[in-house]
Amino acid sequence: MTETKICRNENCDKTVEGRRDRQFCSDYCKSEHHYSARKKTGKTYFKLEVDEVLRKNRAILAKHNVKSKATVRKSVLIEEGFNSRVFTHYWKNKAGDTYLFCYDQGFKEVKDNHKDKYLLIMWQAYMAQQVF
Ligand SMILES: [Zn+2]
Repeated sequence: MTETKICRNENCDKTVEGRRDRQFCSDYCKSEHHYSARKKTGKTYFKLEVDEVLRKNRAILAKHNVKSKATVRKSVLIEEGFNSRVFTHYWKNKAGDTYLFCYDQGFKEVKDNHKDKYLLIMWQAYMAQQVF
């Protein structure tokens, strides 16, 4: 009494065998199906792109922010592919300075000897408790 199921990958018409909850005839079809579904929905695709930029940003910041506080030249981060327009959230300190964050890594533009730099900090628990 096994029903015959056809692979969910629209470019494939093989029957699916094995466990009842299987939807694809092979791992290849499964990943191909998800890949093309992702391409179709611009929204999901956009989210993936943003996630990728965020992860990359975070990795770049973490690499330079070795002592949980650091100052780095802006050009150095840009060269490594840092994109300051993509961040997860922001935090304002009591002095009114706004730090932008990529997950736990924060950054703020500063001028230092007429050079554009980023001040890097780490997210701290107390920052979440502040209400504005
Ligand atoms: Zn298939």
